[in-house]
Amino acid sequence: MGKRVDDISEGVEESLMKEEGKGKKLWKKVKYQLVEYHNLPAYMKDNEFILGHYRAEWPLKQIFISIFTLHNETLNVWTHLIGFFLFLTLTIYSTNMIPNVDLHNLKHIPDVLRRTDLHKLREDILTCIPSMPNMPNLHKLHSEIKTSFPASKDFLPSLSNWHIVELLCNCLPERFSHSNHTDVCVLRSMKEDVANMIAPLMTQPITRWPFFAFLGGAMFCLLASSACHLLCCHSKRLSYIMLRLDYAGIAALISTSFYPPVYYSFMCHPFFCNMYLGFITLLGIATIMVSLLPVFDRPEYRNIRTGLFLGMGLSGAGPILHKLILFWHQPEAVHTTGYEILMGTFYGMGSLIYATRIPERWMPGKFDIAGHSHNLFHVLVVAGAYTHYRAGLVYLKWRDLEGC
Ligand SMILES: [Zn+2]
Repeated sequence: MGKRVDDISEGVEESLMKEEGKGKKLWKKVKYQLVEYHNLPAYMKDNEFILGHYRAEWPLKQIFISIFTLHNETLNVWTHLIGFFLFLTLTIYSTNMIPNVDLHNLKHIPDVLRRTDLHKLREDILTCIPSMPNMPNLHKLHSEIKTSFPASKDFLPSLSNWHIVELLCNCLPERFSHSNHTDVCVLRSMKEDVANMIAPLMTQPITRWPFFAFLGGAMFCLLASSACHLLCCHSKRLSYIMLRLDYAGIAALISTSFYPPVYYSFMCHPFFCNMYLGFITLLGIATIMVSLLPVFDRPEYRNIRTGLFLGMGLSGAGPILHKLILFWHQPEAVHTTGYEILMGTFYGMGSLIYATRIPERWMPGKFDIAGHSHNLFHVLVVAGAYTHYRAGLVYLKWRDLEGC
């Protein structure tokens, strides 16, 4: 009997605990529901045109889970997180990239060979597969190579033209084993292989630090921004720290964006190079200092913030105009300026949209989850930074081939 009573009481306890568990779950659901603008604590009230879908003062665990749920910051987090991984990939790709050389540069080969250690060249070539292939049209190949190396006999006293051809052919046996290749085709691929082999000898890659400084600045900005959008809703204190990190990221992106154009344009004019680099670095540091002031992230300072970052970016017009005056005849200078104008357009549009809060001001509440000004601003920032990366590649190719 006593046992039955115990059983009953155990059963009641169990069901009570189940009820309690359900209640806890329900309470959690209510607690971590998205809230509306008017329910937000004052420090989170930033954009009155985004009416709902806010996370407010959630614990960190819930915040990290919210990367994968829909709220009004989801796209802001993801646009810059994807941007960060894009730039990480570009950085890894650029680290392994060999200097760009196209066939047009074959005409420089005589100059390069003149400067090259011939024993090393010979050694390099000899390390290729040593078997002599069956060559269909040796004379034609000989004359083709001769035109590619017009001055070679003048500066190759120890190595005859023919010897070079022979050595090169030894390096490329598989090219000649395909009998269905026409002679022209073989010659063309031969030319390509010669260019690829000679390229590492003829190019003296210039320093990459300004290019990687820019990639580092871009990655820092994108990751800081993504983290800021994810974590700002946690608490007033974390919001304050993350916003400062976000502003520092923007200042770092703008400052380091100057490094490749300024360094590679003025690397032969150290005075201007140091002047411009010093100016933008100081301006970047000053901007970060100003952004540490508590008033800086207030909504009413939105236009001052935009103006400061925009002014920093616009000061880039100085060195770019200077570059055009110095190198107006250089195709790479014009090409990079085209990219820089496109980048300026992306950043300019981004700043305008950020400051005016278009389109949500026209239809408050309709763009809470997707399409609000900050989403558009983020996409334009990634587009601008990517354009700048492309310009950076043009600068590297220019200076790798021509030096000073
Ligand atoms: Zn942002």
